[in-house]
Formats: sequence, C-alpha cells, structure tokens
Amino acid sequence: MTVNLLDFNAKQLTDYCTEIGEKPFRAKQLLRWIHQFGKADFVEMSDLAKGLREKLSVVAEIGLPEVMSDHVAADGTRKWLLSVGSGNGIESVFIPEANRGTLCVSSQVGCALACTFCSTGKQGFNRNLTVAEIIGQLWWANNALKVTPVGEPILNDNAQIYQSQSVDKNRVVSNVVMMGMGEPLSNFENVVTALDLMLDDNAYGLSRRKVTVSTSGLIPALDRLRERCPVALAVSLHAPNDALRDQLVPINKKYPIKELLAACQRYLTAAPRDFVTFEYVMLDGVNDSVEHAYELVELVRDTPCKFNLIPFNSFPGSGYQRSSTEAIRIFRDVLMQAGLIVTVRKTRGDDIAAACGQLAGQVLDKTRRTKQLMAEAVK
Ligand code: SAH
Ligand code: SF4
Repeated sequence: MTVNLLDFNAKQLTDYCTEIGEKPFRAKQLLRWIHQFGKADFVEMSDLAKGLREKLSVVAEIGLPEVMSDHVAADGTRKWLLSVGSGNGIESVFIPEANRGTLCVSSQVGCALACTFCSTGKQGFNRNLTVAEIIGQLWWANNALKVTPVGEPILNDNAQIYQSQSVDKNRVVSNVVMMGMGEPLSNFENVVTALDLMLDDNAYGLSRRKVTVSTSGLIPALDRLRERCPVALAVSLHAPNDALRDQLVPINKKYPIKELLAACQRYLTAAPRDFVTFEYVMLDGVNDSVEHAYELVELVRDTPCKFNLIPFNSFPGSGYQRSSTEAIRIFRDVLMQAGLIVTVRKTRGDDIAAACGQLAGQVLDKTRRTKQLMAEAVK
C-alpha cells in the first residue's frame, strides 16, 4: 500500500524519510514542493535525486481530495465541493476581504453534535477527515487562487459579477478558520497535525494568530489544544444560560457554560491572542432579546473576550428565522455599552449557500439522525 505524504507533518515526514533510508533534509524539500509550490507529482520535484523520485512514485503518493465543483458568489466568496470518496463530499469557502483572504476549512464529513440551527448538524455524521483531506483544502485553495487570481475570468455563471468587483489580484489565503463542516476538536489528532502544517514555515507558514479553531466547547480537547497547538480560539456560545444553550447546542449538557468559560480562561494563558472570540448566532425570538444581552454581559464579566454576532443563515427545514436588523443592533449596543468589543458578521456568499451554517456537502449519515428527522417530518 502506498503512503500518502499529505498525511504527514514535518516530524512525521522526517521519520518517514529515515524509514525509507533517506536523509532527514529530504523531508524539508518534500514539504516545500508539496505545500509551498503546490506540486502533487514527484517528477516535477527537480532538486530531488532521480532515484528518490522513482522510489517515491512507487511507495508513496500525494493523494488529494477531488474537486467536484467550484462556485463563485456575487460578492467574490468562492466555494469548493471536494469529494472524499464513497459518495461523501465536503466544502471549503474562501472569503476575500480588503486586507486578507480567509479560508474556512472543514474537519469532518457532517457533525455528530447536532446543534439545532446548523445545517451540517442536521445532516448527521459519517466520519472524521484525514489530515490529507483537511490540509488538502488549503492546498487546493492556494493552487486555485494562483491559477485563477481573484478578479480574473473564471468559468462560472457568476463570472461577470465576479470580474466587476474591484478586488486585489493574486489574493491568497492569509487566514484559516476551522469553521467549515464538523467539530474540529472531535477530530483532534488529524486537526492538530493539519494545524502543524499550516504553521510550518516550510509548508504554509501562517502565524498562530491567523489560524482559528472554532469549537462548540469540548472542554477536555480544548485543554489538550492549549498544550499541543494553541492557535486563536473561537467558541460557539449562542446562549447566556444553560437552559437555553442545552436546547441549541446539546453538547452543553455534558460541558455546561461555567465550566466552558473556565476552560476558555485556561486557554488564554497559552493563546496567541489575549481574548476568546465568542460566536453568537442571532435567532429571532430565541436568544436575541435585550434581557439575553444583559445576561450575557454578566456571564462573561471575568473572561477576556470579543463577540461576533452571526445573523442566522437559513436553510430548508431549519425552523428558525434570522433576527431583525434592529434586534441585532440593539443587542450589539447593550454589549458595547458594557465595554465589550462586538462585530456583526457580514453574511458572505449566501447566494451559493457558502455562509456560516449553510455548508452541507454530501454526507451519507451513519447515525440514525436522518431517519429520525424523516419520521418527525411525517408525524
Ligand atoms: N463546529 C464548530 C465549527 C463549525 S460551525 C462550532 O460549532 O464552533 C462555525 C460557526 O457557524 C459556529 O459558530 C456555528 O455555531 C455557526 N453556525 C452554525 N449554523 C449556523 C447558521 N445556520 N447560521 C449562522 N451561523 C451558524
Ligand atoms: Fe457541529 Fe458546529 Fe454545526 Fe454544532 S454548529 S452541529 S458543533 S458543525
């Protein structure tokens, strides 16, 4: 069986080189060819000895997920659907902004945590992504953006609109957020190995501040992340008390808010930023009242944090509505008057279902959730 070199971080690749009788510095060359220069064919790796290239092409591969579709939204947001075999597909989204380009990366096929307002959560769960499938999303995005720089023609229905945007050319991925499909901390080992590559100077060379893990709050894994690879942290809070959070984010029953906040404070002792970003989805009539806002202010009093309010993005059968612009403004003002830093997330790419919580990919559910939902629907 061939080994997929895309599954290895620098240390593992060095060990592998030793194993096949090669000098450790070959690992550095390989990393650069694969990740920096975006090559997937050993033949092109010109400074590797011919014998080594031949050996690698027999025993190893650079196995990438396959791009099934590539869509560009009116606002320049770009979404790829990548096939990961057996009928499963995952999505990654590139969000160009004035001073940065952010890639939103998936970590699992579906998600088992079943937050009630999340399209991925509604779809059930199939499996964890491999390191190759996680880092492969960054590999593809970098390559695709090189081949088709932002603002240049692309074979897509939206090409005209896309071209008419006055955006910088050659924008690349400057930031990564683990906010695509799945709960990254449920797939800990593969996610941190992929993070190693994102941070490695011979691979993607991003700083820890520019890589964000978003979690619904798996406390033990959060503590392990702090020790193993403390990147920037976003926590999906979504409610100011346990009663409401239990309903929206079911994992809260296992890891309730007070314990989660304590874990956030521990995380900050090692984090590259001195605050946690709390994500808060704005659901009309559910968690968006002034009282909720005051309760939230009280709750986070001792936790250095910023808030990111996310207007709910709807999807078929969600059962929720987005809060009104006015409700979001009032909610934001209460937090701001209490001295908190608050941003309201701009909805990007919703015309191609690329906005937060809209990523669905193709998930062959292995849990019984799909069956349950269908049974409920016909009740
Ligand atoms: N599983 C991780 C990361 C993926 S979701 C987590 O839950 O944090 C990224 C963000 O989008 C989370 O804050 C999530 O709660 C939010 N989200 C999920 N569904 C959404 C929806 N329909 N509208 C807006 N935000 C949503
Ligand atoms: Fe999973 Fe995050 Fe969606 Fe919850 S919000 S179901 S943790 S992907």
